[in-house]
Amino acid sequence: MTALNLLYSNDRPGQHAPSYYAASVQPLQEFYSLDGDTACDVCVIGAGFTGLSAALHLAESGLDVVVVDAHRAGWGASGRNGGQIGSGQRLGQGELERMAGKNAARQLWQISQDGKDLLKSLIKRHKIDCDLKPGNFHVLHRERFAAETKAYVDKLNTEYDYGHVRFVERDECREMVGSEDYHGGALDMDGGHLHPLNYARGLAGAAAKAGARLYEMTEVRSYAAGSPCQVVTAKGKVQADFVILACNGYLGELSSEVAARVMPINNYIIATEPLGDDMARQLIRDDVAVSDSRFVVNYYRLSADKRMLFGGRENYSYSFPRDINGFVAKAMLEIYPQLKDARIEYGWGGTLAITMNRMPHLARLAPNVLSASGYSGHGVVMATMGGKLLADAVSSTSAGFDVMESIPTRRFPGGAMLRWPALVLAMTWYSLRDRL
Ligand SMILES: Cc1cc2nc3c(=O)[nH]c(=O)nc-3n(C[C@H](O)[C@H](O)[C@H](O)COP(=O)(O)OP(=O)(O)OC[C@H]3O[C@@H](n4cnc5c(N)ncnc54)[C@H](O)[C@@H]3O)c2cc1C
Repeated sequence: MTALNLLYSNDRPGQHAPSYYAASVQPLQEFYSLDGDTACDVCVIGAGFTGLSAALHLAESGLDVVVVDAHRAGWGASGRNGGQIGSGQRLGQGELERMAGKNAARQLWQISQDGKDLLKSLIKRHKIDCDLKPGNFHVLHRERFAAETKAYVDKLNTEYDYGHVRFVERDECREMVGSEDYHGGALDMDGGHLHPLNYARGLAGAAAKAGARLYEMTEVRSYAAGSPCQVVTAKGKVQADFVILACNGYLGELSSEVAARVMPINNYIIATEPLGDDMARQLIRDDVAVSDSRFVVNYYRLSADKRMLFGGRENYSYSFPRDINGFVAKAMLEIYPQLKDARIEYGWGGTLAITMNRMPHLARLAPNVLSASGYSGHGVVMATMGGKLLADAVSSTSAGFDVMESIPTRRFPGGAMLRWPALVLAMTWYSLRDRL
């Protein structure tokens, strides 16, 4: 089965997804495409959080960095996601302890904490105007999940010395999130939310200011490892001592080794019209980001101008549904029937990437070729951090990169070619379970 090329199948070349974010983005600095040949110390392929963070850190360390993106900086998942800043890894600490042992689990927790600090300090240091707000609330759609969540909060408070999270009982939860659907949750005030496209474009500006050379509308067709590596673009070549693959869900066939372990999957978001302060407060009283306990997660938050930005639903085809608004509104109205008359002004999709164990896949594909992807829906923090770990691994040895690389990422059954039918079966089963 040959997959569609996700770089082009659902989007227009060089244009950001038709999202609320694109409609409210800060004035954009545009970068030329690469027409001809060039040479550099490090060539970064992909200008999302991973590639931009890597480029920024490498350029700050004095290296000559070229970043190429087939579309625009922030065009991929980084510029169109839910903007939710979560703590920890995509897997809980208990699962990580069972998977990798207590010591590694603790290191993985610390890497994610460092990632959150990094994100906040980058925003501050580079004065990135991206509506950063505190608070991330994980809410439970089944009462039976409450005991387990309380125990997890307790574990973080005591064993991980993490005091920012508390369990919220059902009544308070329903005051905070104006929906009958939930039975309590875990509120993490060190998490939060932001405008992801403004954050991504801010990182791009900071990387350029630090000396990185960015080229947009520059698709990489292939690369060859070596000394130096050769990166072949649509209209030229880049000769580089190091190559970083930062393509995530849009990697396609650039690396079959990564593609066998990292699977693209589409997800969708809608934005209502501005709802006004009163309605906004009724829906999410304290303006925190919310995500729920369903396998196909509903995640939502208010925009700076008080729209409901609601994400959820997945379809198991590479093509976006024709009617994204109707498709996602169904999930939103199950949570918030009071929004039945709210106009939906934007609806868009994006491609993220998952791994078998839902942990990012960081790999050294050759001594001078590194890759990071597969953040499994948890990339606002971890892709920013992943980029820094890649930069560290280029400049010197990196304990953080080594820890992440040591977590085994299994190949999807059937590898890159056959993984999709297996995923469809598995996901259909899990999404059915959400209703039980
Ligand atoms: C709808 C949606 C909602 C999400 N919500 C959240 C959330 O709320 N919180 C969270 O933490 N995470 C969320 N995620 C996940 C998060 O957005 C990603 O993990 C993160 O943005 C990955 O960043 P990245 O830089 O690795 O990849 P991307 O941002 O996808 O960037 C990859 C870039 O590589 C470029 N590229 C690919 N191939 C080539 C090539 N051959 N040549 C040149 N360029 C190439 C692409 O053009 C693209 O710009 C969501 C994702 C989606 C799609």
